[in-house]
Amino acid sequence: MFKVEKIRKDFPILNRKVNGKPLVYFDNAATSQTPQIVIDSIVDYYSNYNANIHRGVHTLSQEATSAFEEARIKIQKHFNAHKSHEIILTSGTTHSINLVANGFSSLLKKGDEVIVSTLEHHSNIVPWQMLCKRTGAILKVIPISLKGELIMDEYETLLSNKTKLVFVNHVSNALGTINPIKQIIDKAHEFGAAVLIDGAQAAPHIKPDVQQLDCDFYTCSAHKICGPTGVGMLYGKEEWLNKLPPYQGGGEMIAEVTFKKTTYADLPHKFEAGTPNISGGIAFGIALDYMNAIGLENIAAYENELLIYGTQKLLEIEGLKIYGTSKNKASVISFNIEEIHPYDIGSIIDKLGIAVRTGHHCTQPIMDFYKIPGTIRSSFAFYNTKEEIDIFVEAVKRAKSMLL
Ligand SMILES: *Cc1c(COP(=O)(O)O)cnc(C)c1O
Repeated sequence: MFKVEKIRKDFPILNRKVNGKPLVYFDNAATSQTPQIVIDSIVDYYSNYNANIHRGVHTLSQEATSAFEEARIKIQKHFNAHKSHEIILTSGTTHSINLVANGFSSLLKKGDEVIVSTLEHHSNIVPWQMLCKRTGAILKVIPISLKGELIMDEYETLLSNKTKLVFVNHVSNALGTINPIKQIIDKAHEFGAAVLIDGAQAAPHIKPDVQQLDCDFYTCSAHKICGPTGVGMLYGKEEWLNKLPPYQGGGEMIAEVTFKKTTYADLPHKFEAGTPNISGGIAFGIALDYMNAIGLENIAAYENELLIYGTQKLLEIEGLKIYGTSKNKASVISFNIEEIHPYDIGSIIDKLGIAVRTGHHCTQPIMDFYKIPGTIRSSFAFYNTKEEIDIFVEAVKRAKSMLL
């Protein structure tokens, strides 16, 4: 049995009221809530051993350095990277993707091709468009079906010897579709293309094994997996990280600096210029410990129950349409009711204490595909309950009756 009531006690924010009602937090795909143990780790860092890392000989600096490097090893183990220096601590998925996209500026030439999917978050589109602009490479797009699944036959026709890079998400933040990334990676490798997987939306539900997947890059953000904002990671295969030039210049990332020539530090420091988010990195490790203690498989199984229950309950509402109906789905439900603007429903149910996201979810190409301005997106985490879904569905019904 999944002990959700016990788990809920770990999250202080779940006790609060919003507009006089108990909070129902269904915006987990935007950011997850933070358990006390993660909050405590940040307070502990600033209360007891705040110091800059990798520099000082003094005790505090050594304590902070070893806690930060311990977090890197926790991240390495969680994603099963071969080596800890293949884990780069970044400020999040957006930073990780920009780091890679920038690095490829020196590796691509005019006429090379790169492949993205229609399902992507803007942060896995725009940096590559900028890369194409700089290099003259051509961006190709994998189309989707009405169910919100990638059309794999079309993907295969896009691949050729000109393909240098493929970047797709593991799980779509807007629709919840879980993509067949192993197949995508293997096909790309047949043509010698590198593959970056945006794992921001997968990490809360799935424990990916980057060696088994054989992806070249994998990214995620701590704030979607019970960690703090402003920290995330980039996994890169050692050979690729050695090939890419540094992204930012500064302290920490150098071996030697003179005005004639600067040499760069070894991995991972080559990509970690400046003082990192030290407390955030440490808390990221604690968040992974917390998730692993519950077990990602248990989390996914419970969330799938919520997804099935929520889908069934919502579909009882006449005129409600769900976008994203793949069989392989994470606990995200995107929907609209007839011609009602998503924002109007979102505002009414906020008055009832319910937090959902409304709008395009940073995925305008998906909204264009369905010819809609946006959706209402409810996304469930392992600390949500069926009772909360009942409250939510009643609130949506009430909003509908007010607006139609
Ligand atoms: C949230 C998200 C991002 C962006 O993550 P940041 O933490 O804002 O950098 C990128 N891709 C997907 C699929 C996401 O869900």
